[in-house]
Amino acid sequence: MDNLKNIVDQTIDKAKEELKTISKSIFDHPELGHEEHYAHDLLSEFLSSKGFVVDKHYKLHTAFRAVHDGGVGPNLAVLCEYDALSGLGHACGHNLIAEVGVATALGVKAALEKAGKPLGKLTVLGTPAEEGQGGKIDLIHSGAFDGIDCAMMAHPSQFTWSRPVYVAMNELSIKFLGKASHASSAPWDGVNALDAAVQCYQNISCLRQQMKPTWRIHGVITNGGSKPNIIPDVTELLYYVRARAPTDPEVEQLKLKVVDCVDGAALSTGCKVEYVFSKNGYSSLMSNNVLASLFDENGQAIGMKFEQDEIRRRKAGGSTDMGNVSHVVPSIHPNFFIGTASGHTKELAVTACSESAQENTLSTAKALSMTMVDIFENPDLLPRIQDEFKLQLEQEKNV
Ligand SMILES: [Zn+2]
Ligand SMILES: [Zn+2]
Repeated sequence: MDNLKNIVDQTIDKAKEELKTISKSIFDHPELGHEEHYAHDLLSEFLSSKGFVVDKHYKLHTAFRAVHDGGVGPNLAVLCEYDALSGLGHACGHNLIAEVGVATALGVKAALEKAGKPLGKLTVLGTPAEEGQGGKIDLIHSGAFDGIDCAMMAHPSQFTWSRPVYVAMNELSIKFLGKASHASSAPWDGVNALDAAVQCYQNISCLRQQMKPTWRIHGVITNGGSKPNIIPDVTELLYYVRARAPTDPEVEQLKLKVVDCVDGAALSTGCKVEYVFSKNGYSSLMSNNVLASLFDENGQAIGMKFEQDEIRRRKAGGSTDMGNVSHVVPSIHPNFFIGTASGHTKELAVTACSESAQENTLSTAKALSMTMVDIFENPDLLPRIQDEFKLQLEQEKNV
């Protein structure tokens, strides 16, 4: 193994008890998005104690940046997530994402110091509020990714693979406004907002037959009126509109079709309608193939077992705000196996704090660190990664 990769391996092994304690502490203090004060302080103070230059509350109140400047060269970023789920705690395992992030930080910093010559800069970004609020999207808009050449992170999962599928997602809130009236004595004076909501639901259900297999729309009526004898004057629905990678333009097509369904329901019932797509729509994840191949090679070299079932890989897929980052800078967001429980379940929360999750968590951090070492040591790699990034963006436009 390359000398600097040996340093990575030894450094992360040496720190494993400290790293496990950090992960366990975050697990024991679950915090919702934008309220991760405990995790923010714990991670930023730990990195500061290890010699990183830390900006607490960087751009967002519970975001941070920690930098180790190893001289002229690429600026590579590793991202930490640390938000939890309401009522379920760390049922998405973001405590382990934070552990991967700080472990990678320690491994790469040690390698840069050992190199004895300028190789580049390591940036650790603490990125809050992944679970629906799109913290990384706010960070992109505030310039937190300016000057960063590549971004990496990893998410615990039922599978280990370097190019997981994460789909583009937009949240759509719909409100129909009608006119209340007594449903028995003067129904002709009313304008029925519940009929509009039902019509809208039906229109979208009819649209589903003409959707591509990779598209998903799922919604609920969140307000359907209050009493049977009052013609409802206000009703509300909430939908998630999704399409699979690499299909951001497709999600835009799908949104237009859904809006026609909404407008049609308003027109046919005489209601007014207000609708809004969430400001932080999630993009599909565009895994950089050069980076992902480097990660595969490094992972295999240290004994990581990658899932080979391509059909299973294509079927899986939630959404992440790392998708948006992957359209701004070349990125990877590998998944690593920690157990058979699926995400956002109580069972996953048990696994996320288990001893058995630690080995793959640390192996993943080593593979990410070694991927960074490859880029630092081989100046021809970054241009190849950037060419691939441009090509993938171009291909996505033509889907
Ligand atoms: Zn989640
Ligand atoms: Zn997650």
